[in-house]
Amino acid sequence: MQDAIIIGGGISGLTAGYLLQQRGLDISVIEKGSAPGGPIQSERQEGFLFEKGPNALLLPDHWVEQFIDELGLSSQLQESSPNAAKRFIVRKNRPVAVPRSLLQAITTSLFSLKAKLGFLAEPFRKQISDQAAKSESVARFVERRIGPEFLDYAINPFVSGVYAGNPEELILEHAFPLMRGFERDGGSIIRGAIQHKKHQKRDGTSYKKRSISFQDGLHTLPQTLGRKLGNRLWLNSEVVAINKNDQGWQVTWKRDGENFEGFAKKLIVCLPSLAIKKLAWPQSIKLRLADTPDLPYPTVHSLALGYRRDQIAHPLDGFGVLVPSKESPNILGVLFSSSLYPGRAPDDHCLLTVMIGGRQRDDLANASKEALIDLATKDLDTLLGAKGLPCFSHLTTWPRAIPQYTQAFGPWKQTLAELEADNPNLAFGGHAIDGIAMGASIQSGKRLADETV
Ligand SMILES: Cc1cc2nc3c(=O)[nH]c(=O)nc-3n(C[C@H](O)[C@H](O)[C@H](O)COP(=O)(O)OP(=O)(O)OC[C@H]3O[C@@H](n4cnc5c(N)ncnc54)[C@H](O)[C@@H]3O)c2cc1C
Repeated sequence: MQDAIIIGGGISGLTAGYLLQQRGLDISVIEKGSAPGGPIQSERQEGFLFEKGPNALLLPDHWVEQFIDELGLSSQLQESSPNAAKRFIVRKNRPVAVPRSLLQAITTSLFSLKAKLGFLAEPFRKQISDQAAKSESVARFVERRIGPEFLDYAINPFVSGVYAGNPEELILEHAFPLMRGFERDGGSIIRGAIQHKKHQKRDGTSYKKRSISFQDGLHTLPQTLGRKLGNRLWLNSEVVAINKNDQGWQVTWKRDGENFEGFAKKLIVCLPSLAIKKLAWPQSIKLRLADTPDLPYPTVHSLALGYRRDQIAHPLDGFGVLVPSKESPNILGVLFSSSLYPGRAPDDHCLLTVMIGGRQRDDLANASKEALIDLATKDLDTLLGAKGLPCFSHLTTWPRAIPQYTQAFGPWKQTLAELEADNPNLAFGGHAIDGIAMGASIQSGKRLADETV
């Protein structure tokens, strides 16, 4: 009888497994894929180092920073270039720098005078009731508090960049709970944000978030955790049955055609929502999950493109460009990967990572590689003056990339909470419940470990 079995070897399951192992518990992590880390996959080809999934880890708090240090990864850590703070949003087919100072905010051509005045009026607008706020979309919230232009040219591209999502269907309370808290606690976004900063200072919890990667790419983190877990991490292993008895859980998984069995006091599940629904649960749990609608996950294409530096007119002096859905380019955005981190492209070359698809462009989900490269290179010519064909390309398609915290998220979370309440030795974590960024999944793994010991 082990202490815990963890299903899912993405970053949340790996973190939970590693922490429990460190605390002296006997655990197994069962992962369907051939490598740990889910979409966190980095690859070198033809002198380019590219990411197939996430490109940057935004360290969310002191603990995650310390965790990386304790894993012995500080010497391999790469801070994003100081230029990365500069971000561009497309307006009239041109990348415009997002203002980062009061003076820039006054003079920027990203927003009209009317939109700027709308922003200044934000603290004086009325709140809505808690009840109404529960189902308010991100789009309605931003329109109500600031105005439609801010929605189109700030929030729409931001939501594309983070969720590959649509602000019309994401629910503010689920997708951006901090923002909702600003209005609820401070009466306005601006006042709430100032209050929040003050409280953090007072409580000693303020933390300057930093965007990082590693010399060999982001996959260094899951690979290190995988190595530390050793034979406690079962790769290429798919769970085929879960049974429950008085002592705990019996889990059966298949690897290379052979069945393996584990018994554990606790079962921890760190899977995407559809995978949770599809597990071979005992009948009562299966029925409860079947009654709950799944979360939408759009398809996202990640296209790594290598160019000779002299093919591109733009200085590539920033994090990248986001495209509002009102503008004509088809891509969601492009990251200046080789400007962000050193060593991503051969000398005199640059690496761009183009994201395509997402919730607002479901029509591109099944597009061919040729069609996507054609579309991306045309957009990059318009936006960055990228002339000619790239000398390197690699496409990764994620058919179910990122969960959308829509209206379905409330009932989904409620069902998982009820299942946990009815089965005290069952816990859920990871991106289907605790937040959609890598940092949130690492924090989720810690929460699960803390709740287990
Ligand atoms: C294209 C893309 C770009 C992204 N960009 C960023 C970014 O720049 N920054 C950022 O912070 N985040 C980004 N993210 C999100 C980030 O990758 C996720 O938040 C994080 O990796 C989620 O980790 P997780 O452990 O919660 O889930 P997952 O990584 O999805 O882990 C779940 C694991 O369960 C396994 N599994 C599934 N079914 C079974 C089964 N039946 N039995 C056993 N195992 C199973 C899967 O193979 C997977 O490894 C991006 C995601 C994508 C797809």
